[in-house]
Amino acid sequence: MATGQTFVIVGASLAGAKAAETLRTEGFNGRVVLIGEETERPYERPPLTKEYLRGEKPAAKLYVHEEGFYADHDIELLSGTRVESVDLGAREVTLQDGSRMAYSRLLLSTGATPRRLVLPGADLPGVRYLRRMADSDELRAAITAASRVVVIGAGWIGSEVAASARQLGAEVAIVAPNAVPLERVLGLQIGGVYRDLHAEHGVDLHLSTQVEAIVGNGAAQGVRTTEGSVIEGDLVVVGTGVSPRDELARAAGLALENGIVVDEFLRTSAPDVFAAGDVADAWNPAYKKRIRVEHWANALNQGQTAARNMLGQDAAYTKLPYFFSDQYDLGMEYNGYAADWDRVVIRGDTSRRAFLAFWLRNGRVLAGMNANIWDQGDAIKALILSGATVDAGRLADPSVPLADLT
Ligand SMILES: Cc1cc2nc3c(=O)[nH]c(=O)nc-3n(C[C@H](O)[C@H](O)[C@H](O)COP(=O)(O)OP(=O)(O)OC[C@H]3O[C@@H](n4cnc5c(N)ncnc54)[C@H](O)[C@@H]3O)c2cc1C
Repeated sequence: MATGQTFVIVGASLAGAKAAETLRTEGFNGRVVLIGEETERPYERPPLTKEYLRGEKPAAKLYVHEEGFYADHDIELLSGTRVESVDLGAREVTLQDGSRMAYSRLLLSTGATPRRLVLPGADLPGVRYLRRMADSDELRAAITAASRVVVIGAGWIGSEVAASARQLGAEVAIVAPNAVPLERVLGLQIGGVYRDLHAEHGVDLHLSTQVEAIVGNGAAQGVRTTEGSVIEGDLVVVGTGVSPRDELARAAGLALENGIVVDEFLRTSAPDVFAAGDVADAWNPAYKKRIRVEHWANALNQGQTAARNMLGQDAAYTKLPYFFSDQYDLGMEYNGYAADWDRVVIRGDTSRRAFLAFWLRNGRVLAGMNANIWDQGDAIKALILSGATVDAGRLADPSVPLADLT
């Protein structure tokens, strides 16, 4: 099929690697070029805040594919190579050495990058961000050497880094503007479960607190809040969210909103150009809106769907968002998407940290989370997709099977 065509994938991480793999498993026998600026072959990032950061998992376990996979499948992996620009008219990409490569179809899977702090002292040594494997290596060493770690931000990255740093034996403080960790996604009640979890593990929590500056004489020595107090720490880890890496798309003139705008077939505004993973602001038919999802499963699955659409299969991406997090002994999975809910229903015991939680709007379940309870994901997804109006009392009652509510 399609010999003589060149499919170029920019961004050699999870979405890009799964797209390349799928092109081959779907029988494409043209040229596949996977270009990534990182020197590592594609790897998975979730362990970078968890087992890998704690030194419990070797790098060899992070890679998306075995070492010989790309050569064995005739995928040209150009690691350590940045794409500088995309010329939509000429259907070419320009690499950092100035060479140009023509594409028949193009996938942009350029991911996201940590938002940088713009504050006095933000450039001091001792201020760190986490996105890449090398960042995690350096952070592990820095945590071990630090006398105290201050984490700015209590989203997923900040919360998981704080947990791992405690598990590595460091003294840890969190400073965040929200009233509870993970408030934006989970709300006050379930975020409160994480607040208590961190507090029980000895994290010094400074919530509802804004940072004004990083202080230090030649290196970070603490974080000054807008109230004027200084939270001391010689390692400052910033976890204040990510921005989509849409700079190539922007310069090329593709439609952007919250990332690269794509339809449910992951097609951008330009013919034969697709986007997937953290960078894609994709139309989700279940929620009837575009959603940019910054999670592992989305990169994994959209990469595969994008490849099918590059092959002209008209495969709509219809999956619900899904993510997971592990902090100390609390593991959770979250299915769905709730940005604006009017009720949270809990089934189980939050104080024992074994429960299900549901985010509802107008009586319908938008999203559900299972915390230290497993094998509930399919039932939660079915409940969301059914669009059924549910009785909150029955939803909270563990004796009522979730399937009976759809
Ligand atoms: C530390 C950490 C922990 C995480 N933990 C979880 C978790 O527990 N659960 C969960 O669901 N998700 C988690 N995630 C999120 C998940 O890892 C991401 O959603 C996923 O990595 C997105 O994959 P991607 O392929 O879309 O983009 P990325 O992984 O960001 O990869 C994009 C790649 O494109 C490259 N690139 C960008 N521009 C260019 C260019 N011009 N030329 C060449 N290459 C380029 C980048 O260098 C990068 O290698 C975590 C993320 C991080 C950083």
